Amino acid sequence: MCEQTAGEGAKLVDVTKLERRDVLRGLASGTLVLVAGCATNEVTGRQQFIIIDESQLQQASLQAWAQMRQQTRTWNNAAAQRRLETVGRRIVQAAGRGNQSWEFVLFDSDDKNAFVLPGGQVGFYRGLYEICERDDWMATVLGHEVGHVTARHAAERYSREAATQTALQVAGTQLNSQMAMAALGLGAQVGLSLPFSREQEAEADIVGIRYMQAAGYDPKQAVPFWRAMQSGGGSRPPEFLSTHPDPDNRIERLRNYINEQGWGPV
Ligand SMILES: [Zn+2]
Repeated sequence: MCEQTAGEGAKLVDVTKLERRDVLRGLASGTLVLVAGCATNEVTGRQQFIIIDESQLQQASLQAWAQMRQQTRTWNNAAAQRRLETVGRRIVQAAGRGNQSWEFVLFDSDDKNAFVLPGGQVGFYRGLYEICERDDWMATVLGHEVGHVTARHAAERYSREAATQTALQVAGTQLNSQMAMAALGLGAQVGLSLPFSREQEAEADIVGIRYMQAAGYDPKQAVPFWRAMQSGGGSRPPEFLSTHPDPDNRIERLRNYINEQGWGPV
């Protein structure tokens, strides 16, 4: 996405210095080519195409979070909540993000799933909690979710979506809140319809395992955790698995990474 070629008569400009309206018009008419909005993510070292303000993402997160909390009952279990918070705090500290606001909420659902919004709101379902027999396993999940945030995956997905939409639509299109919601992966029914890309999932796995290691958890435990998920996924595969047609590959990649880092053998 960061390397779009310029059409005839196209201007190369830094879109971060333009009004969003002008960007959309320019893209739609083909007189504008995106060269900026591209930045290197400091966590992953990867170039990303991002054309959404952090403040817009924060706003959309709050909205989506309020909706989630309305739709799904929270699980009132003080001991479980303490445990989630303890592991969560250690992970965000290890990620160097202890100074930003985070919220960890347990939802009363059988789903073996968890999610994160770019504003730092983390939802963790009872079904997944019940699988996490060790704190290291919770740390695997929370590392992965925090990894989505620090790697700016939602902003990236939103920006790709917006650019694609813009290419298809006429000038004057608004980047409306519906699109923002879709980009955050919050569809109408389930709340999490649009998955992160496979590349982003793989990246979150690796970033996550680095965080769990830095937080003092055992990264080797990610392997039995994913095996347990694989065998206990049930009829509705969790977000982690659904975007990966072959969970064996994911486990293999993690094993390789752990061994390469000298944290193994596993
Ligand atoms: Zn994920």
